[in-house]
Amino acid sequence: MATLTSTSVHTSNLFSREAIAEGTMAFRFTKPAGFEFRAGQSIDIILLNPPETDEEGNTRAFSLVSAPFDPDLMIATRMRDTAFKRVLRDAPVGMQVKLEGPSGSFVLHRKAEKAAVLLAGGIGITPFLSMVRQATNDKTQHKIYLFYSNRRPEDAPFLDVLKEVARQNPNFHLIATMTQVAQSKGEWKGETGLINEEMLAKHLPTLQGPIYYLAGPPAMVAALRRMLINAKVDADDIRTEEFSGY
Ligand SMILES: Cc1cc2nc3c(=O)[nH]c(=O)nc-3n(C[C@H](O)[C@H](O)[C@H](O)COP(=O)(O)OP(=O)(O)OC[C@H]3O[C@@H](n4cnc5c(N)ncnc54)[C@H](O)[C@@H]3O)c2cc1C
Repeated sequence: MATLTSTSVHTSNLFSREAIAEGTMAFRFTKPAGFEFRAGQSIDIILLNPPETDEEGNTRAFSLVSAPFDPDLMIATRMRDTAFKRVLRDAPVGMQVKLEGPSGSFVLHRKAEKAAVLLAGGIGITPFLSMVRQATNDKTQHKIYLFYSNRRPEDAPFLDVLKEVARQNPNFHLIATMTQVAQSKGEWKGETGLINEEMLAKHLPTLQGPIYYLAGPPAMVAALRRMLINAKVDADDIRTEEFSGY
């Protein structure tokens, strides 16, 4: 098992990519021999001699979407028009990259008696998919509630995978919510609107007591944290992963 502080540099190869939601892609890389991580941790991907670059450089941090039990490493990202992402989008399969990591301590607490409440906006789902798939694989007894907010279903990466995990794992509860459902081409029968105290209270047995995990763009993480503090959640029970760069 990797410790939470050890990082090292590895060589890896891109071996597939796929569109997983509107403007959003997943990339799979080979898992280097000896690479171990805990669900929720992140890596730096370093492009080697890319055909183009910009002032942000050739390195970006990504949470691992794949679970530790998976044979490969997957990341997912919103495909903004930056040099790094154009290179990733157009790279030939087999392209070699350097991976640095794993990093971070954004991992599920060990005491299964305490519920975990995961709050994700959009691409912030990445560390949580790893956590819930690993917890399901390990048959941990944690009660896990995932509140997952997107503008429309077509913007929501891995929604179908999460629904399937919820069918497999009776301890995992998925509460997906859409904030701009009127602009969707499909129909939506679940929650609508932003994740707020009322929505949490409707689905959680109790607001105080669980450990809360927040992931996504910094402004969203800050807004969710404020909402939890206003709802009298103890600040010590809130853990965050900010995707700086959004
Ligand atoms: C621990 C950690 C985990 C992360 N996990 C993930 C993850 O799982 N998935 C993921 O996608 N990202 C993740 N990120 C963020 C990721 O590292 C990148 O910063 C992010 O994807 C943006 O990269 P970029 O190439 O699109 O923009 P960059 O080139 O890095 O842009 C940097 C700056 O330019 C601005 N900018 C660039 N393009 C635009 C645009 N189109 N609109 C508005 N502003 C723009 C940004 O505001 C930012 O200030 C994570 C970050 C951290 C620290």
